[in-house]
Amino acid sequence: MPETAEPSIFSRIIAREIPATIVFETDTVIAFQDIAPKAPVHLLVVPKTQEYANVVELAAGDPALLADVVAAAKQLSLDPELMGEYPLGQFRLIFNTGEAVGQTVFHVHAHVMAGHLQEGSLA
Ligand code: ADP
Repeated sequence: MPETAEPSIFSRIIAREIPATIVFETDTVIAFQDIAPKAPVHLLVVPKTQEYANVVELAAGDPALLADVVAAAKQLSLDPELMGEYPLGQFRLIFNTGEAVGQTVFHVHAHVMAGHLQEGSLA
């Protein structure tokens, strides 16, 4: 990230400056419970670098890191503790891209969801 950029809220979670329920971590990505879940299972997978604002930038800039995000989502979906009553290995993967569709944190993140979405919620 540029030296002038403020750490995103997710970078602060990665640095353990603010708390989160972290459920998975590798050298490149971290996953934690969404603080305001919009489905019975709602996790976020976040690349540790905040260099990419959205999935389009990530795919263009570091496709291997995008693959790491998808692999992490698969791992989470295979964990019975996280998935509860929902079928293992089956999940929604949502990347909001742009304010108009509700993106509020411009540090790319995947919403990993299972079960019915809250009414009116796209993530
Ligand atoms: P939206 O807020 O519309 O879902 P995003 O796609 O940018 O937009 O998603 C940001 C997500 O990050 C939201 O689901 C929000 O609940 C979650 N979130 C924000 N702050 C925290 C936090 N401190 N810990 C965990 N999740 C968070």
